Amino acid sequence: MTLTFSAAVLRSYESPFTVEDVALHEGPAEGEILVRIAGCGMCRTDLAVRRSAGRSPLPAVLGHEGAGVVAATGGPDTGLRVGDHVVLSFDSCGRCRSCLGAAPAYCDSFAALNLFGGRPEHAARFTDAAGRALAPRWFGQSSFAEYALVPARNAVRVDPALPLALLGPLGCGFLTGAGAVLNTFGIGPGDTLAVLGAGAVGLAAVMAATAAGARTVAVDRHPARLALAERFQALPLSAATADLPGRLRQLTDGGPQFALDTTASAPLINDALRALRPTGRLALAARLHTALPLEPGTLDRGRTLSHLCEGDAVPALLIPRLTALWQAGRFPFDQLIRTYPLSAVNDAERDCEAGHVVKPVLLPPGNDPFPAAPATPPVQREPT
Ligand SMILES: [Zn+2]
Ligand SMILES: [Zn+2]
Repeated sequence: MTLTFSAAVLRSYESPFTVEDVALHEGPAEGEILVRIAGCGMCRTDLAVRRSAGRSPLPAVLGHEGAGVVAATGGPDTGLRVGDHVVLSFDSCGRCRSCLGAAPAYCDSFAALNLFGGRPEHAARFTDAAGRALAPRWFGQSSFAEYALVPARNAVRVDPALPLALLGPLGCGFLTGAGAVLNTFGIGPGDTLAVLGAGAVGLAAVMAATAAGARTVAVDRHPARLALAERFQALPLSAATADLPGRLRQLTDGGPQFALDTTASAPLINDALRALRPTGRLALAARLHTALPLEPGTLDRGRTLSHLCEGDAVPALLIPRLTALWQAGRFPFDQLIRTYPLSAVNDAERDCEAGHVVKPVLLPPGNDPFPAAPATPPVQREPT
């Protein structure tokens, strides 16, 4: 079979996305599913491809926060059926020590599978309209498109009553922030947390910490972002505050036990470490692009610093927890989202880079994020 559908293709590291027809030349193999995408979040990691210095191959269909409806399955072993609603998350091998130890974000093959070309044996299955190969699926999915062919192990079935088109960011950005709080830190009532950077990851952390009964201070340069953090019960603190560590200690009764950095700013990281309580823990969610100089004393008294990936999450465990919190009104992630038609992918990128939107979600043609009636089963396009 060949399935032709529209997708946003990045053809060079400098050029805008082009929305064009692409083709899948095989249906799902064993263990795979074909998903009709209802919506796909745009994440910083998609945009970082432009700065990957050629390591992420192009032309490619990016997008790794997809959610949609299963349109076909590669056999019963997928555990999914046509019509199931799924959120797609990152790819992992399922066989290495990390995967077997319930830490798929630290899969030995994480970079290869997600960032640098996917599974090369699959390359020929995915082409542009002229038959030229596209890069193998990005993050196991390539969801800036009407359809994505994905390993079933990366798909998490969700309640069909949920607003499917908006759920994709639960597979990466919101997963990372909430996972840092609920998994990495295991935050509970009365705990204190500093969040550096109130973007999609930071605000998801704020919401999760509030849901867990913790007290959070959100640090950011932008008043609008601080106002959002305040809406989700964080204490706002300008990054330009004089004596930031002292002020953080004041607001957290002697210093936060936990801090999450989403900024990769060395001065902010040093300030947060200095503010932490003894044995406090700082996790870096952002990728550092330069050396990180640590000032003397910042790691004294049992403080620890580590990098975390994908919120230390097993997506099949954390995503249902987050949707349950949303249903209870305690994780209102939808308030961080602005939707764009897939054809406006370049507007979404511009707004995201300018900080005008926390989390863009791209909607392929025919998807309304707020349908009046329950979602209907997918209509399969005739194979051409
Ligand atoms: Zn693995
Ligand atoms: Zn991401």
